[in-house]
Parts: sequence; structure tokens; C-alpha cells
Amino acid sequence: MTILRLPTPIHEMLGLPPLEKGWVWLVGAGPGDPGLLTVLALAALQQADAVVYDALVDESILRLARPGATIEYAGKRGGKPSPRQRDISLRLIELARAGKRVVRLKGGDPFMFGRGGEEALALVEARIPFRVVPGVTSGTGGLAYAGIPATHRDVNHAVTFVTGHNSGGDVPDDLDWEALGRGSPVLVIYMGLKHLPRIRSAVLAAGRRADEPVALVSHATTPRQRVVETTLAAVVEDAAAHAVEAPALIVIGEVVRLRAGLDWLAAMSGKVLEPDPLGLQPAPRQRA
Ligand code: SAH
Repeated sequence: MTILRLPTPIHEMLGLPPLEKGWVWLVGAGPGDPGLLTVLALAALQQADAVVYDALVDESILRLARPGATIEYAGKRGGKPSPRQRDISLRLIELARAGKRVVRLKGGDPFMFGRGGEEALALVEARIPFRVVPGVTSGTGGLAYAGIPATHRDVNHAVTFVTGHNSGGDVPDDLDWEALGRGSPVLVIYMGLKHLPRIRSAVLAAGRRADEPVALVSHATTPRQRVVETTLAAVVEDAAAHAVEAPALIVIGEVVRLRAGLDWLAAMSGKVLEPDPLGLQPAPRQRA
């Protein structure tokens, strides 16, 4: 006789909190690769009655939702304007009040340029219980897949995450580029592609070198990942020449040069990596 054993749910195996009825979990889905989902995010999906997701969440991740869960899209589609933030929050409240276990699934980390804070505050106002499940943000996870570390001891002791977009779709005017340019050796810019010419001018005006390395990383961690390495001087022209698509990150700083040594993804298809891309090792002594 064979005994059919149902697999123990992940949250029970690990003693993770269950997703209760009437709760909303704001869950980060990571930058794309389903392998970068956290275990807690997977457990949430496996228990959800309703999943409300954004444009940047990969299909393969949605397929992990509990069979029978309703899956709703809350982003822009086919050029139609996106539903207003208020409408998304109201929908989450409605689902929770109907006693659903709700997963609000957002690209990357929900609290990193993801409006997770706004949605959570709307839940607080409506007295809906919630939990935040952080995700791998594209600004670090996406960079790692491009072979660019956000920091390196010999290069930078600070990194700044910047958004190139405010709620009106413009470069935020409260950004002090002068201070960013002076104080942060590495800038990782989210949502900046559309305003690349303005960003470049602002960074150059802040005193950064025209030959400073820049990487444009698009569709990071997905099969469509592409990385264009360029310089501040050439970034606008190179973005156009290579038809760089959103979603993309702009990375400005010397850490970009480490890619010659750390592009592990390309190494799997034969790229030869340089062990000392920054030229830090002392040159071998000349024989007398
Ligand atoms: N909460 C998300 C960011 C949302 S804002 C996070 O933590 O990653 C959307 C911006 O994120 C995009 O314009 C792009 O700059 C960046 N982004 C998100 N996913 C990306 C990916 N797979 N590759 C490159 N950039 C990405």
C-alpha cells in the first residue's frame, strides 16, 4: 500500500507566519529571476486567495500562486493609463474586507521606489492588518547579475540610490545633483532612462568626469538582460544606438569597471574574466 503524503507547506516547515484571512501582505518579487524570490514571498503566494501584481512581476512568479487564487493586474497595460494609486489601495482594502488572504506583489523591494509605503499607509488608515515582505531590489540584485558590485572596498564607501522620476513623471526637482555628484562615488539611478540627457547634464555639472564609466542594465536577471557599458560623455548616444529598453538601471561610477572581472553570467558562455580589472595588484618585478 502506498501512503500518499501531502507535502508540508513551506510556512509550516519553517515556522513562518501564516497569511491570515483579511490580511494584506506587501510582497517584494525581486528583480525578475524567480530564484530571487524570498522563501517568505513564496509561502505567501502559496497561501493567497488574491494576488494583485505590478507590471514588473514575471509570469513565472505568478504561476507559483495557490491554484484557485485570483490574479489581478494593477499596472499599465497596452498604453492605457495605469489605475490611480488610490484605486489600487481601495481594491486591496476591498479584498481584505471580503476576508481574502491578499498578496500585493511588487517588483523588487516594495519599499524601494515602489510606492509600498503609500499602499501600507492606506491600509493603516483603513485598519487593515498587514505585513511587509522585503524583496531583492533591482539596484543591488540586478547589478549583481550584471557583474557590478554596488560597493567595493577599493572603490567606494558609499552608494546612492536615486529615482529619475517623480510622481509627475519628471526628474525630481528636489534632487541636489551637486551634492550627489560630490558626495556619492556611485549613483544607481532607477527610472532614469527617459530623462537620460538631463541626468547626464546634471551629473557633469556636478563635476563628474566625462570619461567616468556608466552601465545601463536593462531587464536585469531575466533572459532579456542586456548591459551596455559606456561613459558619461557617450551615454545618451549609446543608449539610443543600442536601443536600451526599460526597465533599466543607470550605474555611474568606477565600480562599473569591475565588470571586466565579475561578469560571471557571461563567463558561463566563455567570456574570459580579468582578475584585476582595477589594476590594483603591484606589477610583477622586472627581472634584472
Ligand atoms: N521596487 C523596485 C523598483 C520600482 S521602480 C525595486 O526595488 O527594484 C521601477 C524601476 O526599477 C525601473 O524603471 C528600473 O529602473 C528598475 N528596475 C526594476 N526591475 C528591473 C530590472 N529587472 N532590470 C533593470 N531595472 C529594473
